[in-house]
Amino acid sequence: MPLNRRIVLASRPEGLPTEQNFGVEQASIPVAGPGQMLLKTRWLSLDPYMRARMSAAKSYTPPIEVGGLMVGGTIAEVIESNVPGFQRGELVLSNSGWQEYAVAGAKSVHKLEVEDGLPVTAALGVLGMPGLTAYVGLYDIGQPKAGETVVVSAAAGAVGSVVGQLAKRKGARAVGIAGGAEKCAYVVDELGFDACVDYKAADFKDALAAACPNGVDVYFDNVGGRVTDAVFDLLNTFARVPLCGRIGSINDATPPAGPDRAPALLTAMLTRRLHVQGFIVSDHWHRNDAFLEEVGALVKDGTLRYREDVTEGLENAVSAFLGMLQGKNLGKALVKI
Ligand code: NDP
Repeated sequence: MPLNRRIVLASRPEGLPTEQNFGVEQASIPVAGPGQMLLKTRWLSLDPYMRARMSAAKSYTPPIEVGGLMVGGTIAEVIESNVPGFQRGELVLSNSGWQEYAVAGAKSVHKLEVEDGLPVTAALGVLGMPGLTAYVGLYDIGQPKAGETVVVSAAAGAVGSVVGQLAKRKGARAVGIAGGAEKCAYVVDELGFDACVDYKAADFKDALAAACPNGVDVYFDNVGGRVTDAVFDLLNTFARVPLCGRIGSINDATPPAGPDRAPALLTAMLTRRLHVQGFIVSDHWHRNDAFLEEVGALVKDGTLRYREDVTEGLENAVSAFLGMLQGKNLGKALVKI
């Protein structure tokens, strides 16, 4: 009899997670009750926020309990349905986590509308949560204007790759920051950014200043840490900073060494009248229709480029996730189940 393979949080990581922080369980396949459907996971999205959920620290959502299922967005197939309007064989977007089967009610899934000519997986990446994050962070908070300079970190990834391409469409100069020469070449040659700077290179700060001769008007901050410190030095008066992610320090077990940078950052915010705003995409779903209309058209006609980094098999999800936290992915990290 087939079983439901599930990946759970075995222990809380200190620093970078390891394989030992995860456990594999074999449970019986759940039964769909009245008003429920049985789902079989086809695709699992791997996202940096999952690292934060492994920690007990207070955040905008509760942590995963030790022993609990790893959370995650999925594309799943309806195997059995006791829900009017949902048929066996249909695909849905769900939050059913790192497991092969799940039961869900109608309210916790969305029917997947597959765009002509696009892979279904676009709904987890460029036309899903990461794409919407780029859209609202850049347009609503960053508000780039023609001729301005927009810098984005984690530029080769799911969010960053969209940010730079949308900035270009507004007539701005798009400068990416990414880890390594290969990713930087991809960001410029394939995604069409004006420049990309390798934050792992010894001359990072100088190269960033050279890539931004007129300073920085929008910094879309995906990483924090020393990358953000370097960009802050270049911010122009009235610059905007959508604070999107902290992957650069998310695995730090202790505060960064050296002097406390907070007073310098706050002084820069005051004297240069910076607009720094943290945001969480789930507060912005009302922008989804506008996002899909604009970015969907650009993806369909090939104007907006993206890549997916696909790993095969739930048994390889942990290593793919650990790889993503260390920059081994190029594009949206996905697991095909
Ligand atoms: P990516 O596809 O960009 O993958 C993560 C990337 O982060 C890695 O490939 C790596 O790229 C980079 N990275 C890892 N460690 C470091 C480090 N120490 N310093 C600098 N860069 C590092 O992920 P996403 O596009 O999905 O997410 C990007 C950011 O956006 C994350 O911080 C995420 O938490 C945030 N986010 C926030 C949302 C919100 O609602 N606010 C919603 C969605 C995402 P490289 O090789 O270039 O180092």
